[in-house]
Amino acid sequence: MKVLIIEDEPDINRQLVDAFKEANYAVDTTKDGEEGEYLGETGTYDAVVLDLGLPGKDGISILKSWREQGVATPVLILTARGSWSEKVLGIDSGADDYVAKPFQIEEVLARIRALVRRAAGHTTAELVCGPLRLDTKGARVTVDGNPIKLTSLEYRLLSYLLHHKGRVVSRTELVEHLYEQDFDRDSNTIEVFVGRLRKKINVDLIRTVRGLGYSLDDPEEANKERADAKA
Ligand code: CA
Repeated sequence: MKVLIIEDEPDINRQLVDAFKEANYAVDTTKDGEEGEYLGETGTYDAVVLDLGLPGKDGISILKSWREQGVATPVLILTARGSWSEKVLGIDSGADDYVAKPFQIEEVLARIRALVRRAAGHTTAELVCGPLRLDTKGARVTVDGNPIKLTSLEYRLLSYLLHHKGRVVSRTELVEHLYEQDFDRDSNTIEVFVGRLRKKINVDLIRTVRGLGYSLDDPEEANKERADAKA
């Protein structure tokens, strides 16, 4: 999962970046409105945290421009405390949610988790695939109830595959959603990470679809499909 944070106040920017990195997200960030607009147009993000008062270009104009161009990424805006008109304008301009400043970082993280899972069509904070469970709230992964220790990147990879369970995800798509903007991208390394992840979860859930990518399949669903195909 990758987020874009556009916030010009250095302390708040740092607080957000640190918290999202701590929560295993890949994070791109800028303090400038114009650069932020460009990143949102050209990058691939699972969600955006957008401040409204920014140098270069204000948040509402950025949001309107993205939505006019069909950028559908979930956006959470940071509004001034008590300014209901700013919230209304933000939502009418295409924001999916808001948090008023000053905020508790936990609230921002929880709202982004909700936006990301809703965008992927999930209703609960826990994602399940057969014996595998991922609790997005506590970033915990278990197989048959036993905790599995993953690196930040492995967690990101698994979380992305679980959010998009049952669908083939290409290597390019994974590279776009797992690595930060200035990371040396080499899509071959995805295979290495998938290999490590398979070894750690030690159940056969991640299928390689030759020439296309990977798919995380629910064993029960797969069995059912096989049974249906026979019948
Ligand atoms: Ca600001």
